[in-house]
Amino acid sequence: MPAWRKLRLSVLKEEPLCRECAKKGRLTPATQVDQIDGDVVNLARENLQPLCQSCHSRKTSRENDHPNAVLERPMPED
Ligand SMILES: [Zn+2]
Repeated sequence: MPAWRKLRLSVLKEEPLCRECAKKGRLTPATQVDQIDGDVVNLARENLQPLCQSCHSRKTSRENDHPNAVLERPMPED
């Protein structure tokens, strides 16, 4: 099994509910694992969050609207 798929399954096992929906008090099963910073090569566990299909597509369309967003983001403090 490819490493990414394995990682994705372990995230969904740890957190089976969509994190965005949970913030709004909704309990929606997560089907997607998203890279929080939008960086597809950053597979650190803290950069991965479970999302449902609708939250995931909303987030990715927002990222695609602003292709330079990653460049505008301030550098981490440390
Ligand atoms: Zn959701």
